[in-house]
Amino acid sequence: MQIRRLKLSGFKSFVEPAELRVEPGLTGVVGPNGCGKSNLLEAIRWVMGENSPKSMRSGGMEDVIFAGTETRPQRDFAEVVLQAVDDHGEELDVTRRIERGAGSAYRVNGRDVRAKDVALTFADAATGAHSPALVSQGKIAQVIAAKPAERRQMLEEAAGIAGLHVRRKDAESK
Ligand code: ATP
Ligand code: MG
Repeated sequence: MQIRRLKLSGFKSFVEPAELRVEPGLTGVVGPNGCGKSNLLEAIRWVMGENSPKSMRSGGMEDVIFAGTETRPQRDFAEVVLQAVDDHGEELDVTRRIERGAGSAYRVNGRDVRAKDVALTFADAATGAHSPALVSQGKIAQVIAAKPAERRQMLEEAAGIAGLHVRRKDAESK
């Protein structure tokens, strides 16, 4: 899967609608401390279904919504759109939106879907050879300090077989 475009609105520091085009040859995003580089990575993680506040560096899930500054009021919602092309060349358009007090909702190619459907979509994508590998700040230190079972999970994620567990769990619950 290849990520082509990321659109953010009200997500963390991206208060105004912003768009990041991921074109061939993009190898890095640079900028001063606190400009939002890690927030971009977290937006990718979030739209793919991340639900652990810890890995989003926040206390609760609503903390991803722009919290306001001295000069700007807070926002009522955050929305991230991820446009990608899957391994079969099909366009994939995933939207996640969270509203204060109303939880979050997903759309895939314009259709309302469940969080589980998004998890399964990316579980499949992760098994491909071009799986998105997201390594956040501090992850390397975590790998070194991890217990064997945790390290195994990290390796399974990196190898792209963690998705098999998601599908097995889903199958078992039916
Ligand atoms: P570094 O180079 O230090 O790693 P960075 O470019 O990765 O910096 P980020 O961590 O992405 O920077 O951005 C941090 C900024 O995002 C901080 O200024 C923080 O106040 C802001 N921020 C995070 N969450 C929110 C939120 N919910 N509302 C408003 N601003 C937020
Ligand atoms: Mg950072």
